[in-house]
Amino acid sequence: MNNHFEQKKRIYESMIDFGVIGSDENYSISSTLPNILYKKEEISMSDYLKAWNNFLNEKKGNLSLYVHVPYCIEKCAYCYTSSSKLENESELEEYIDRLICYLNFFEEHFRNEVFDNLYVGGGDPGILSEKLLDKLMKAVFSNFEFRKNGERTVENDPRTTNEKKLKILKKYGINRLSIGVQSFNEEVLELSNRIKQKEKKVREVISDAKKIGFDIINVDLMIGLYEEDEKSIIENFEKLAEIGPDRISIYPLQPQDKYLKKVYKKDRSTFFKIRKKLYKKSVPEILNIAKKNDYDVNREHLRATQNANDANSIAFKKENSSRFKTNYVAYPVDEMNSILGVGHMAMSRIGKKMECNALRSFAEEPENYNFVGYLLSPKEQLIKHIITNLSYKSSFSLQKIKDDYNFSENLIEEVKTIFEKMQDYGVVEINESEIKFKVENPREKLLYTLFLFEEKDVMSLLPDS
Ligand code: SF4
Repeated sequence: MNNHFEQKKRIYESMIDFGVIGSDENYSISSTLPNILYKKEEISMSDYLKAWNNFLNEKKGNLSLYVHVPYCIEKCAYCYTSSSKLENESELEEYIDRLICYLNFFEEHFRNEVFDNLYVGGGDPGILSEKLLDKLMKAVFSNFEFRKNGERTVENDPRTTNEKKLKILKKYGINRLSIGVQSFNEEVLELSNRIKQKEKKVREVISDAKKIGFDIINVDLMIGLYEEDEKSIIENFEKLAEIGPDRISIYPLQPQDKYLKKVYKKDRSTFFKIRKKLYKKSVPEILNIAKKNDYDVNREHLRATQNANDANSIAFKKENSSRFKTNYVAYPVDEMNSILGVGHMAMSRIGKKMECNALRSFAEEPENYNFVGYLLSPKEQLIKHIITNLSYKSSFSLQKIKDDYNFSENLIEEVKTIFEKMQDYGVVEINESEIKFKVENPREKLLYTLFLFEEKDVMSLLPDS
């Protein structure tokens, strides 16, 4: 290792010291550096629409619509989504009216498009009354066209949804339900302010959904809730596998400082140690139970979990269920998926060029609405793409990225030179088709991704001293 490497390492350590990046090994590498180094800017509606126009002219990849309902009956203490407790029904009615006004506005700009997927999430769309749910679904399906065999998902909290609401969703062609259960342990749920979720109601909702006949019923569980031990985690999975939804997703709880301070009363690194232990103790038994109940595990997710210790979700599907691929987890992760996001704080992604969030409140006129986000240059797009890949893979092909996304030969060559330097340091191995990272530890990988950025940009993150 030479001085150049030592210097990067020092920068990295200083970044931890100064709190620019997290010190624990679970710090997400996919979002950390690009999100810190690339500058967010305000994007006007006209620039946003211009970016969509350009994208639609040379459309590559999927097009999805995301609709956000930012209200829940209570705010769960661990939840980081953009949502809040609903204070009164009129607030919700007003929000849905404004949301529909924006859906109507976008109709004109997407009139000739067929969306591949729809995702209505939150918050909790199940909080809408039957009348409001029908009104929102009508606005979505009358304004936009969807591919016949695409995925059309609505998130549901079992506490708020019911048979009538599920039938409304079915009537409009929703084919995938995503039900957040997290745990069957009522005591554990209450400690995290997820109150009044009864096992009986969860069973009823899943059974109604099965009877009504959605193509895919996905249920989420969580690992890392305060006071939940491995025995309870295994019991949750066992109960759910016996109920038998098409898919089960297990998520690692991603704690916010507020949750750690107020509920967990532990620091970040202690929390991660506990979560890692819970994974280690519960996952082998969960895999046994899955097998006994005819669930297949998504090997790629599982491998990523093992590589990153416990930082990824694990997805299971019934062996006879139709399709495995899911375009969204809580938010879309597939980068080939461009998203028109409508609603407070909804995220949009326009090709690889723009990623932005809507603001917390609607403007009176949609024309005057602004977004906040990133407008990326081709080099920034390429680096972001490589880093996203590295968060769950240890190898990738620059040639394939070039072919898939049309990056210029020059740019690919420029980035390849950086990897050749890294090969000299023994960090990666380059063969004809692939670049393979020799390190698996996420924290260490984060260190090496610093090489992809301009030194002056990285240095600018550090205080003058
Ligand atoms: S976990 Fe679901 S129900 Fe709880 S606050 Fe978050 S979005 Fe709302």
